[in-house]
Amino acid sequence: MCVGGGRVSLENAIGYAKQRKAFNKVIADFGLVREKIANMATLIYVGESLVYRTVALMDAALSEVDKSTADAAKQTLKAIEEYAVECSIIKVWGSEMIDYIVDETLQIYAGYGFVEEYPAERAYRDARINRIFEGTNEINRLIITGFLLKRAMSGQLPLMPAIKHLMDEVLSGPSVAEELEGPLPEERKLVGQAKKLGLFAAGAATQKYMQAIQDQQEIMGAIADMTIEGYAMETAVLRAQKIVASKGEAAASLPIAMTRVYLAQAMEKIESAARKVIAAVADGDMLRTQLAILRRLAKYEPFNTVELRQQIDSIQMEPRISLAWCRCPQPSVRRHRPGSNP
Ligand SMILES: Cc1cc2nc3c(=O)[nH]c(=O)nc-3n(C[C@H](O)[C@H](O)[C@H](O)COP(=O)(O)OP(=O)(O)OC[C@H]3O[C@@H](n4cnc5c(N)ncnc54)[C@H](O)[C@@H]3O)c2cc1C
Repeated sequence: MCVGGGRVSLENAIGYAKQRKAFNKVIADFGLVREKIANMATLIYVGESLVYRTVALMDAALSEVDKSTADAAKQTLKAIEEYAVECSIIKVWGSEMIDYIVDETLQIYAGYGFVEEYPAERAYRDARINRIFEGTNEINRLIITGFLLKRAMSGQLPLMPAIKHLMDEVLSGPSVAEELEGPLPEERKLVGQAKKLGLFAAGAATQKYMQAIQDQQEIMGAIADMTIEGYAMETAVLRAQKIVASKGEAAASLPIAMTRVYLAQAMEKIESAARKVIAAVADGDMLRTQLAILRRLAKYEPFNTVELRQQIDSIQMEPRISLAWCRCPQPSVRRHRPGSNP
């Protein structure tokens, strides 16, 4: 629903921006307006990818349920529950994505954004409920971290061994950068770094609070934010990889550009959430050591997001080919998820 609403909103924003004139130009010619279009298109690409991936994972799990057995209903519920974390992720992510899109659409309509006869006003008002119903985003954030920690504590999810492995790795100092084979190596490396940042912060927090972490809602929320962004980053990269594999790198330039723009902004959010957690659980020398590790894990050569956004918005603005990535193949089903592979 949020992805569909986002697409309609983006189409409206593009249509309006191409006909509204200010300073003797259509506003679609202004860089700051075009940047908004590129950001919206990027979020819709990522949102669509998240939904396709998660629903395909659930479809695959449900197809394995033997409907002829007496406990088919129980098996079905179990298969669905397996994806509770991913569902909470796309609920939170999708509802915050649509709020951003309707807000920026309204900004493009500016004064007319307040006028009921134009579509931006209604979209802005209608979208707001998404962060409230189907479990408020606060409750869903608690579900994301709570479920992951519950699985980790019960041994269902190898989170603790992964944290220990990471600690050993970071304490042994900088290692030689691993060369990744195949398409989008830098992007895949960044996804790996994002996961490490999340694990590092979660490890520091669980070490301090143990089971009582459930009462530290702000920290639970920050861990949820890192999980959400990590899943979104990985999903965007997987889809771009699939498009490269089927059409080649040149034909995949738009999804690659959108993936890079998204990775850059998600990394900022993850780094900021990790910093918040670490500052809350450590102090003095320990804090300084942990912040040094955090900086090392978060280090990467930035993408030129100004140029990438220009590439995205120039394609979105062309007549009849906006939302061009709709013709791209959908992401493949991968048994590779936050709940199973920290
Ligand atoms: C337009 C609309 C349509 C709706 N449609 C449906 C529907 O079809 N079916 C249905 O069942 N319900 C529906 N609802 C109800 C909706 O699901 C609830 O409004 C929602 O679950 C939040 O409950 P509440 O309003 O009682 O808020 P409260 O529970 O009072 O929450 C208030 C605030 O406190 C926060 N909060 C509450 N508990 C915690 C906690 N433990 N930790 C941290 N923060 C917390 C919440 O996140 C929220 O920000 C609808 C609501 C609206 C406005």
